[in-house]
Amino acid sequence: MSFANKLLQESIEGRTLCVAHNLKLESLFKLDLLEENDPQIREGIEACQQSNEVVMVSAIYSYLATLYLKQNNPHQAISILESNFDSLKTTKYVPYLAIFNSLLSQAHHDLGTNRQAEEYALVAIDEAKNINISNSSVNAYRVLYQIAESRGDHKMALEYHKKFAEADKAYLDDIKTKHLAFQLAEHQATEQKSRIGLLDKQNNLLKIEQRLARSEAENNRLFIALLIAIITLLSFWGYKSWMTQKRLKQLAEFDALTGVFNRGHFTQLAQSALQYCENSDIYLSCILFDLDKFKTINDSYGHACGDWVLKRVADVCKVQGRSNDIFARLGGEEFSILLPGCDLLTATKLAETCRKAIEQIDTRNSGAKFIITASFGVTDAKLSGYDLEKITADADMAMYCSKHDGRNRTTVFGRALADENANVNAGENAGSEASENRQGRLTL
Ligand code: GH3
Ligand code: MG
Ligand code: MG
Repeated sequence: MSFANKLLQESIEGRTLCVAHNLKLESLFKLDLLEENDPQIREGIEACQQSNEVVMVSAIYSYLATLYLKQNNPHQAISILESNFDSLKTTKYVPYLAIFNSLLSQAHHDLGTNRQAEEYALVAIDEAKNINISNSSVNAYRVLYQIAESRGDHKMALEYHKKFAEADKAYLDDIKTKHLAFQLAEHQATEQKSRIGLLDKQNNLLKIEQRLARSEAENNRLFIALLIAIITLLSFWGYKSWMTQKRLKQLAEFDALTGVFNRGHFTQLAQSALQYCENSDIYLSCILFDLDKFKTINDSYGHACGDWVLKRVADVCKVQGRSNDIFARLGGEEFSILLPGCDLLTATKLAETCRKAIEQIDTRNSGAKFIITASFGVTDAKLSGYDLEKITADADMAMYCSKHDGRNRTTVFGRALADENANVNAGENAGSEASENRQGRLTL
């Protein structure tokens, strides 16, 4: 009935509407909820007549006739059944023909017109033969055995009663079977429902898991991005600080103009080299040179040209020595080369090579043409010892001798010392600035 109600709430028409009405009325009838004056009966009959559904109309009339019979109103039942019997006969639909005949038989039996009742009952039984199980034959046999009994024909009555009992049992079994089948179907539907519920839950669980996995992946991505950002930042910071370190080291150790070591770093390196050579009893020589008349170059060609000269001089001298020579600009236009593991003769040769290389510098790239020269002084640890101050002072003195002797030359300290002694012995008249300086040094 609830499904029929649902169906009737839809916007249906024609045969579907008739079927829906019929199902609703059949449910009400079988639930004992239908009354003969229920307006739904009229609605159902009209809907089925409109769609020309004769069998359905007959079905509704059969419910109505049954209700009249229950109210002991067989006349009304017969009138309804007979008014529709002809149109039902045209359909030749046996199950309802059997129902109509069985109901007519019952109505006539109620009225006491037993002959007609018997006739209708036999036709109903005949028609119901073709249907496996039918309530019509149950009713018809009941009428027949009651008539036979009332006639006193006990043999016939017993015969019909047996058939009635058989048909009744079959009918009830059929109903029971249907009921069981219905229960089974209902049970299966419940099982299916709970399985669907379970699947729904599993589905929800999977969805939650999926969401969780997605957010986990998102978190991982964020974490990786963060890590990359941190690594990039650290690398950048590391690179920056490495560059700064490098720059600071460069500033601290190298002369900005010429790219060779500055005085400070030279002092550090020279002291450790001297220490090492002294401890290991290794040769060590020192060259010191100063550009000649450099002030004149500055004055004649400009300070920028002077800078260019300083760079070129450093470049040409740098390539002459060995990699462990300590080459530095001590200041202004004065340079020094400390040569660990190098004897005086080799150092003197190197000084000469540098001097010639300086002399040969092509100055045309500076914008002017002139000759660059330098005066060199050389000494070694054998002559001057392993003290930095002493060894550079001696090399310096030798270099001043070169200046004094006319510049652009190399003087070895031993010879310079001899010369100085000679100068000192020659008298106090040699009043040049250079000799005064040298004398001052000698007195140190
Ligand atoms: P001497 O042959 O006696 O050594 O004469 P000098 O002219 O070379 O010596 P002096 O000491 O009179 O002059 C050195 C000049 O070097 C003076 C100074 O202006 C110049 N000078 C020092 N440092 C630099 C520098 O970095 N660049 C330039 N262009 N000139 C410099
Ligand atoms: Mg000079
Ligand atoms: Mg100088």
